[in-house]
Amino acid sequence: MDRKAYIAEQKEKRGRKTVLVFPIHYPREVLTALNVLGVEIWGPPGFPRAPASTHLQPFICGIAHNILAFIMAGKADVVDGILCPHTCDSLQMLASLLPDFKLTDKPCFRFRHPKGKSPDSKSARGFYKAELKGLLDKLEPFFGRPSEAELQKAIGLHLEADELKLKLLDQRAYFTTNDRAFYEVLRAGEYLWVEDHIAMMKKLLESKSPEPVEKRKPIMVSGIVPEPMDILDAINNAGAFAAADDFAAISRRIAMKRPNPDSDPLDALTDMFFARRGCTTLGTELEERANLLLKLAKSRDCRGLLIYNVKFCEPEAFYVPDTQDIFKKAGIPSLYMETELEAEFSGQASTRLEAFIEMLEQPS
Ligand code: SF4
Repeated sequence: MDRKAYIAEQKEKRGRKTVLVFPIHYPREVLTALNVLGVEIWGPPGFPRAPASTHLQPFICGIAHNILAFIMAGKADVVDGILCPHTCDSLQMLASLLPDFKLTDKPCFRFRHPKGKSPDSKSARGFYKAELKGLLDKLEPFFGRPSEAELQKAIGLHLEADELKLKLLDQRAYFTTNDRAFYEVLRAGEYLWVEDHIAMMKKLLESKSPEPVEKRKPIMVSGIVPEPMDILDAINNAGAFAAADDFAAISRRIAMKRPNPDSDPLDALTDMFFARRGCTTLGTELEERANLLLKLAKSRDCRGLLIYNVKFCEPEAFYVPDTQDIFKKAGIPSLYMETELEAEFSGQASTRLEAFIEMLEQPS
């Protein structure tokens, strides 16, 4: 079932309204507690940008361009609102442009999160909790206010989904499925109701082999989002597989620690936000992030690192030199590639990727 049909079904059968969500970090649990379906938008790749492109400078990334074009083409007319997390300057600009220039008639809700702060920072925690409260206030006139029990239930469901995602990622080598099919299951949570996503991930987990079955070269994949998803086919066709994930759309949003079960829901959500592994868009320390990645890559015996960045994504690009340096010193080669979020992964890009994977060591 495609997204549009799924949204319609959720509305008809479950009475669920829908909010379109911009990348990357936001409290999905709040939407679930409100019985609202959050549908994320990561482009989509290949979407025709004219005439919306006149509103944005050409050096703004493809994700922001395609989101605006998608909305202005009326493709998001079925949603009841738009949630704009303060991810980067480009998305912050979109969050202003849409209402100010009346490019949409949907209510736009902004959500800011702290950057570059340690989980122990009292001010950062206080700020995040206040933003959560502010978001609940902004959503209330449109969707109501969730009870504490509804928030707790939603938190429990999303923690279960996160744990399943982690389990799948940790055991990637035990699945015979190719990377695209594997990532399609992981990414289905971008639009599915959380219980449907949990069921889908459990089904995939049941197909796990008792022993590792992957014989291709293990590599780490890093970037904002694996789009277009042919990139994953190109990796497999070149003789490698994504053994370790560092995509912002996937593993960087997983809470790595469960909150205290007795916590107030907003404190639990705050704990979960600060328990995410470092993300470029959260301003994690350069060296700390690179070392986290290296540790993960080593734990999966990765033979190489592929950094697949969206062109003009400044937050991501800022981390690339240090990360490549630290990997080089550790003897793990890396390849930096950029995408403009085209409809397809180009033949030229496939050739570069093949050459890189060919020179990586075969696992013993
Ligand atoms: S790709 Fe980078 S610059 Fe573009 S929306 Fe995402 S985080 Fe912002």
